[in-house]
Amino acid sequence: MEKEIKKLIKTSCANFIEGQCALSGRECPLIDGGEYRGKKIPATDNRCSYFEKYVLPADKALEAEYHGKDTLSKKCKGCGKGFSSVANRAVYCSDDCRKSARRKTFVKANNKRLNNNN
Ligand SMILES: [Zn+2]
Repeated sequence: MEKEIKKLIKTSCANFIEGQCALSGRECPLIDGGEYRGKKIPATDNRCSYFEKYVLPADKALEAEYHGKDTLSKKCKGCGKGFSSVANRAVYCSDDCRKSARRKTFVKANNKRLNNNN
């Protein structure tokens, strides 16, 4: 998980600029660790409220893991297969299922319109 968090910071954190944290003016504590009263603190023991609030939610699965939450077991509305998701509103296992379901709805609506015209 540590690797994913560092990757997310490097790609998504608005305060991570050229290897430094714009908020603290030093290295990102979640990437390079920190120091407290002369003692080294590993990156995994550091917290960043900005990261938790604004960066981490971009990755729901990682956010759940970070907070120690379990992912939800669900049944896909499209293909009927079981899948796990942390998003309460997720009803499809994948983008493919969501897209094909949307296409079906679209076709149905189209047919209805055609029938009404006849
Ligand atoms: Zn599915």
